Amino acid sequence: MLESANIIELIGVSKVFDDETVAVDNFNLEVKKGEFVTFLGPSGCGKTTTLRMIAGFDIPTSGKILLNGEDISNLPPNKRPVNTVFQKYALFPHLNVYENIAFGLRLKKVENTYVNDAGHTYKKTQKLSKTEIDKKIKTALEIVDLEGFEKRSVSTLSGGQQQRIAIARAIVNEPEILLLDEPLGALDLKMRKEMQIELKKMHEKLGITFIYVTHDQEEALTMSDKIVVINDGEIQQIGTPTEIYNEPINTFVADFIGESNIFNGTVVGKLKVKFCGASFDCLDDYEINQLVDVVVRPEDIKICKPGEGQLKGKVISSVFKGVHYETTVEIGKFEIVIQSTRTAELGSVIGLRIEPDGIHLMEKVYTVNKYDGVITKTNTVEFGDGEFECDVTQLYKNSTLDEEGYLITESGEKLDLTGTEVTVEVDTHDIQMTDDEEAGGAQGNIISMIYKGDHYRYIVRTEENEEDFVLSCPDLWNTGDLVGIIIPKDKIKLTLKLTEESK
Ligand code: ATP
Repeated sequence: MLESANIIELIGVSKVFDDETVAVDNFNLEVKKGEFVTFLGPSGCGKTTTLRMIAGFDIPTSGKILLNGEDISNLPPNKRPVNTVFQKYALFPHLNVYENIAFGLRLKKVENTYVNDAGHTYKKTQKLSKTEIDKKIKTALEIVDLEGFEKRSVSTLSGGQQQRIAIARAIVNEPEILLLDEPLGALDLKMRKEMQIELKKMHEKLGITFIYVTHDQEEALTMSDKIVVINDGEIQQIGTPTEIYNEPINTFVADFIGESNIFNGTVVGKLKVKFCGASFDCLDDYEINQLVDVVVRPEDIKICKPGEGQLKGKVISSVFKGVHYETTVEIGKFEIVIQSTRTAELGSVIGLRIEPDGIHLMEKVYTVNKYDGVITKTNTVEFGDGEFECDVTQLYKNSTLDEEGYLITESGEKLDLTGTEVTVEVDTHDIQMTDDEEAGGAQGNIISMIYKGDHYRYIVRTEENEEDFVLSCPDLWNTGDLVGIIIPKDKIKLTLKLTEESK
């Protein structure tokens, strides 16, 4: 049974490296005693940094970390009841299993209470005795299922066995919290799966809190009581594996955990949404005309006769995956992926049915890109680490430009706009990418892509100030590609900052 008390609490914790890299942005999190909590997210999202702050290897830039309700911000790592297991086991190759585990114990000092001849009690700080060390090592080896391995040289052990020894070495100190940073990352798939089950068993046997870091969603879903999904230094969702899988809070979580069909949708009535050209009943209540992202899991789509169900399309691929078929169906310009024990012949037309509980609506996060911009001397606009051609006359109704580039207002006033601060808005559909990174107004790397049925949604991030361009595009690009950003002049919407404030 889990106790309800929090062992660890993160309150508004942020970590900024070198004044510019925000690795962790305002984390609020509660970890209960005895829980198995997993930090899950792509590489570089801030998982390890959070773990290191709990261990005391890194200090938060702001916010507080509480241990059993007490602020431990200034407590050094060796004073925290925490032990860490890393991906690299860092065992001593020249020592045997016993000596590897005993290493920390030999340095440890404990306070023992004695009674003297006069009957008075007194305390003495002592090293652990050989018998105590033997006993602790035996218990630790039992927990990691390697009884009798004391004399073996670590260099003769398999990767999985070495990682068990690393875990034994961490738990032999009887920490209240075990931190595990991608501990199975170096193992092959089969061994990893075995160790996942083993770790879950160890957690049950020990009854202590495990905080686990991984980028592997299956690992997180298999082992955790609670998953913390992180992206780009921000917590996206906290929940049980079932909550995270069945009720993802946004398209990032839906796409990262499990497989998803993600479409642009519009709410067309009370509990009614339109996507892929059809109308569906749903359970999520949004305002009419609201633009939403619609997430449908492949296993929630049922194949039926054409004319039955809400959608009709042509089968363009069918692959047997062992337990189910993965069938891709083309519906006009959309593609939808189905996982089912049923499939249909390639090229045949089938009907598809989605029940209301298989349709998940999420508020659209990105429909428009918004930036702070400044008008230059040549009437271009600087924003997003770049410079773009724009139409400055939209800033003043019925204005024109004279030959020298000054703006002439409706009343005939001549204005020099150099340095004018503006808000820039660009629709996601109005940004294009080009291979020629010099050709656009700005350039950046593709850091994220999500397939949305008939197009991809990309995020391109600039190097200088990490400005993001969110854009929709039907073509397939690769994450990591360096691209130029092109925005047609008439698609850049400008508003005077001053006007906005005085509204
Ligand atoms: P991975 O799965 O690749 O280990 P992660 O999610 O654990 O990634 P972190 O290691 O926490 O990510 O890194 C988060 C961000 O902070 C990254 O952009 C990283 O480059 C940066 N970062 C981490 N440590 C430092 C440091 N000591 N100095 C500067 N930047 C750092």
